[in-house]
Amino acid sequence: MTVWICATCAVEYADTAEPPSSCPICSDERQYVPASGQRWTTLPELSAAGHRTQLSEVEPGLYGITVEPQVGIGQRALLVQTPGGNLLWDPVGFVDRAAVDRINGLGGLAGIAASHPHMFGVQVEWSRAFGGVPVYVAEADKEWLGRTDEAVRFWSGTHEPLPGLTFVQAGGHFRGSAVAHWPAGAEGRGVLLSGDTIAPAVDRRWVTFMRSYPNSIPLSQGAVEQIVGRLEPYAYDRLYGNFAGVVEIDAKAAVRRSADRYIGWIRGDFDADT
Ligand SMILES: [Zn+2]
Ligand SMILES: [Zn+2]
Repeated sequence: MTVWICATCAVEYADTAEPPSSCPICSDERQYVPASGQRWTTLPELSAAGHRTQLSEVEPGLYGITVEPQVGIGQRALLVQTPGGNLLWDPVGFVDRAAVDRINGLGGLAGIAASHPHMFGVQVEWSRAFGGVPVYVAEADKEWLGRTDEAVRFWSGTHEPLPGLTFVQAGGHFRGSAVAHWPAGAEGRGVLLSGDTIAPAVDRRWVTFMRSYPNSIPLSQGAVEQIVGRLEPYAYDRLYGNFAGVVEIDAKAAVRRSADRYIGWIRGDFDADT
């Protein structure tokens, strides 16, 4: 049996003799199937093609993990260190011995979580590489799980996988879209790992909110207000998206300011400028 990895999104599917007929995540309106059609790959094939993990420090207690050359949509996974153990956020769609050795040198893994289904990667493979550590999945996005495992734990609302780290189901991009709040980050001013729920803009003072980034499908005023409202109780100064985007300082104010601008535009407040 083979674990199949979608070549476009790098999400794993159950070990079956034949690959699935399609990838539900890529067939959905938020993603895409490339013009060349659905293609599947496997970990041995990716390894033979020369893909390797890279790990580097992002800030004290936070490490970024990427795959070179890129696999799938090329997200950067984040490893957060807490006194109770390390959490891997938005796992990439490839894992190798070097990553396992480096992470073991940093204290191993106590859990794995994706912000939303686009970022599931090979989360069960990552869990197995670390002795079956829990894989946290938002209950609301259960239907997107292409590979189940006894390590999977469902959660809803808010969840504290480790002391000093809280998942918040902010919704928007997916019903279960989550962010991770890490209060010890940014020298104690607080960090939000925002996935695709809140995406840092190219202008680092701003963020945005979308149902689909590749297909440019917006969210409503209500959905944007919901995201901002659910994060209101949390203090944070810095925000990391799931690529290299970051709002370095004053991130909470940037989120509020960006939500106000976004809502103003979809409401028609600035139509005189169009
Ligand atoms: Zn896919
Ligand atoms: Zn996404």
